[in-house]
Amino acid sequence: MPIHEKSLIRPENLSTHDNLVIDGVDVSGDFSTFIRSRVVTDYNEDLQDEIAAMPGGEYIHRCWQCGSCTNSCTVNAENPDFNPRYWIYLIRMGMESELLRDKDIIWQCVSCNKCTSACPRDVVPEGVMKATAHWLEMKGHTPKSNSLIFDEIFTDQVVEYGRIEDGRVLMEFMKKTDQPLLQDWLVDLVKKLVSGLPLKALSKMGWSTLFHPKTSDWSKARDALREHIAEEKAKQHAALGMDPAE
Ligand code: SF4
Ligand code: SF4
Repeated sequence: MPIHEKSLIRPENLSTHDNLVIDGVDVSGDFSTFIRSRVVTDYNEDLQDEIAAMPGGEYIHRCWQCGSCTNSCTVNAENPDFNPRYWIYLIRMGMESELLRDKDIIWQCVSCNKCTSACPRDVVPEGVMKATAHWLEMKGHTPKSNSLIFDEIFTDQVVEYGRIEDGRVLMEFMKKTDQPLLQDWLVDLVKKLVSGLPLKALSKMGWSTLFHPKTSDWSKARDALREHIAEEKAKQHAALGMDPAE
């Protein structure tokens, strides 16, 4: 499948003449299509380093622009504007304002990792997409996504209790994303999940959701994890030139 690079030409930069005759030859319509050139001056020379400081973006410098990621991408097959190769190029060139033009679709990566399997340079393009989406949120270019909210709830539970209670994660996620718990699809899903479980397992699940037991002797591991997370966050904030407290 070819890469749909034509999609990189923005419609607002194309111009055509409805009636144009040159040396007696009618070149109206598509024959007179011109692509207006643009000059980009506001480079962010630290952009690659900023993305590389986010989890998943570490290997972006290895990219040699072969296009295998875009060629194999699940989302690109549906939406030609979703183009990991192109975004990696923009990041490596420091073209932040160009990247921001696509800020509302970068989060659409479905983490299928087909690009990661296809990449000959071990760039892990899926990780770069995650890192870029995270960078957009940290810089305030996009609101916090549901995906990030879910990650935070999941991580908080692991760090605090040393274990995950699915029911509790789900309840907190629905609450933080302002979604009602009693939705038809969710009720159906829960019914299907619990229908095959023995009574003992069900009551254990219910008890755990309500009383939130901790893994025994978890406090040392919890403190170490908290310290590590704080260090990593501080590194990310420093790379982005942000206040560590933000
Ligand atoms: S992981 Fe994301 S970028 Fe990679 S192929 Fe899948 S949808 Fe495309
Ligand atoms: S497949 Fe890998 S090397 Fe090729 S363009 Fe994509 S990220 Fe770059």
